[in-house]
Amino acid sequence: MQPFAFQTARDERDALAAGAAGGRYIAGGTTLIDLMREEVERPEWLVDINGLPMRDIRATADHLIIGALARMAEVAADPATAQLQPMLAEALNEGASPQLRNMASIGGNLMQRVRCPYFRMLDAPCNKRAPGSGCAAIDGINAGHAILGTSAHCVATHPSDLAVALVALDATLMVRGAAGERTFPVEELYRLPGDTPHLEHSLQPGELIVEVRVPRGAFAEHARYLKVRDRSSYEFAVVSVAAALDIRDRTIWEARLAAGGVGTVPWRLRASEAALAGQPLGVEAFRAAGQAAVQGGRPLSGNGFKVEMLRRTTIRALEMAGKTG
Ligand SMILES: Cc1cc2nc3c(=O)[nH]c(=O)nc-3n(C[C@H](O)[C@H](O)[C@H](O)COP(=O)(O)OP(=O)(O)OC[C@H]3O[C@@H](n4cnc5c(N)ncnc54)[C@H](O)[C@@H]3O)c2cc1C
Ligand code: SF4
Repeated sequence: MQPFAFQTARDERDALAAGAAGGRYIAGGTTLIDLMREEVERPEWLVDINGLPMRDIRATADHLIIGALARMAEVAADPATAQLQPMLAEALNEGASPQLRNMASIGGNLMQRVRCPYFRMLDAPCNKRAPGSGCAAIDGINAGHAILGTSAHCVATHPSDLAVALVALDATLMVRGAAGERTFPVEELYRLPGDTPHLEHSLQPGELIVEVRVPRGAFAEHARYLKVRDRSSYEFAVVSVAAALDIRDRTIWEARLAAGGVGTVPWRLRASEAALAGQPLGVEAFRAAGQAAVQGGRPLSGNGFKVEMLRRTTIRALEMAGKTG
């Protein structure tokens, strides 16, 4: 690991000043330290933000508000989460391991980097780690890679389960930086790889995620997160689907869906949502949504199975959401 300076931020102003001057925030450290050990990441200056007052979980009239420093386990166990949006607890509990969830923060979870094996192999070409070097996955081992949102320069999937659930639920982020405060949809945090896969998110240099705001309301009662993975714990999604339904008189009023493990960003399934809106609750509507989910999917040499798996996972997640409540 290369040497680095370490600073503990006294308050938010101190953190933002350090962030604007090139300091790199560290929260739980569960992924940044790993990447530094492997020398995939080489920050020269770490800014510990754990002392900042950003750990609250609270409800307002319109939102469940989650501080960026709240730990995954805390959010999953909080009564406000259980009451206002239990699907978030499900998505959090399906991620990582109990030890990691105790340490890992919500902000860090949303900012985690891809799990493509070549990204961590310093001698492999990887446009994300070394722009312009190529992509070893496109003609390499790519069973775990994306079928949606890929480019000729990168095909890695976005890894966060939480982000998938938040994108489905139209959650927003409040961030602060040198230019002040702004709020925007979680979906807009993530950039498609295009020809600049090393640019992964839309935060300005030094911007700090302060809190996540999850709308309360119609989608809480019938919402589930279904994750398919190679083993039942301590494993990223092969395919996952967050499905939330607003059901009135056995009719699907509106639907919100997003998928993980298949896209280069958390993938909102808008065509599936359109296929469900106004339909009677039942397997016919779910099948149409499953078919719509795979529209535009472009498998690589090793991951053709993800098309059918996404279709089926969408149907199953909708069946589960339809029964919940
Ligand atoms: C073995 C293993 C298995 C895992 N499995 C899963 C899984 O199945 N599903 C899943 O979703 N995740 C999984 N994870 C990822 C895990 O959830 C993340 O490591 C964790 O959430 C990161 O949080 P952290 O606080 O430790 O982040 P850190 O390591 O401290 O930081 C990560 C990044 O976020 C930035 N950052 C942190 N906080 C902020 C903030 N407030 N504002 C702006 N930038 C910030 C840091 O600068 C850094 O770039 C796994 C991790 C490991 C190691
Ligand atoms: S898929 Fe992306 S992260 Fe993986 S080797 Fe290619 S460029 Fe790198």
